[in-house]
Amino acid sequence: MAVRNIVLYPDAPLLQRARAYDEVTPDLALLAEDMIETMHAYEGVGLAGPQIGLQRRIFVMHEPEREPRCIINPEILDREGEEYGEEGCLSIPRVYAQVPRATRVVVRGFDERGKKVEFEARGFAARIIQHEYDHLEGICFPDRLDILTREEKLREWEQLRADMAEAIRSH
Ligand code: ZN
Repeated sequence: MAVRNIVLYPDAPLLQRARAYDEVTPDLALLAEDMIETMHAYEGVGLAGPQIGLQRRIFVMHEPEREPRCIINPEILDREGEEYGEEGCLSIPRVYAQVPRATRVVVRGFDERGKKVEFEARGFAARIIQHEYDHLEGICFPDRLDILTREEKLREWEQLRADMAEAIRSH
């Protein structure tokens, strides 16, 4: 297992739509392990393929008190309700915003062993799923904000990223 590098916003392929897998091959179980290890290393609750530079429809999630899980070629079959809640993103570290999401979703896809899965998620789990699914569509959470908040958050991120680059240079 290995911790992968995280792609930072707005680097490729974060703004591109990810491609579906034609089949679930055994190497995807290893990929899922790496993604889960990477998500934990960065203390995230979700991680999508594009965030490790992979333009593919796969994500992992870990809601508190549950086992981490991997979903390949996910589809959101149903969305219901709306609520605002705080979100961050491993590709936009240290930036947080109140993001509107459906309160309940129904998801279908495959797990990392190729088994078909379909389940309902609510609240925080539903939020993680919508955030990670967005990554597969080339959408990052600032895109879900009203324009003024989005601009404010993107400016905040540009500054943070510039500071990070400066810290690395002067090290
Ligand atoms: Zn994210």
